[in-house]
Amino acid sequence: MTTKSQPVTNYRIPLVGPEAPDRAWQEASRNYIWSARHAANATRYGVVELLPEGVVRLPERGRIFHAIPAGRAHRIEHAFGFWRTCGADALYIASDYDEGVAYMMVISTAPESYTTDTLHWTCPGCGATLHSVEVPTRRLHLAGLTERALAAVRAFNADAALRTCAQCATVHPPAYGFEPADDNDEERAARASW
Ligand SMILES: [Zn+2]
Repeated sequence: MTTKSQPVTNYRIPLVGPEAPDRAWQEASRNYIWSARHAANATRYGVVELLPEGVVRLPERGRIFHAIPAGRAHRIEHAFGFWRTCGADALYIASDYDEGVAYMMVISTAPESYTTDTLHWTCPGCGATLHSVEVPTRRLHLAGLTERALAAVRAFNADAALRTCAQCATVHPPAYGFEPADDNDEERAARASW
């Protein structure tokens, strides 16, 4: 039996050009698509992954195409301030163009294994897990994920005990959610810094 794969035709937010927003999340068929663009002189987004051997940063290149496998904790610096893990692979693309850099991350919601997103924070000093929140994304969809993520961020920021490592006493800096437009002053400053 062969499965014919259908193109995603309801992808509607442009990546570049005058209509393109600085950042967007959209649901298109069974995909969550995050896109963004930066002016050429702006700080670039960077992808970091949490592997058994530690934090690994993707090299900065003019063009990157990278698959983040299901189950691997990852973060896009300045885009969301926590480790995110889910049961689906994510494809991350960064590409220079004549006016700057365009970014895209595509996460298929089709796999049965993708039911939740786990958001968590680790100690910047020793790597110990500080706090973890599970969001039932299959039930809540993208809007619910964004909302729950912001609530988790605010609870984490408001509680110094949550942010303080029990092993080495390092205090994690404040975090930030997916949507820059939702940032309060503390979250905006955090987004700019890590
Ligand atoms: Zn620690």
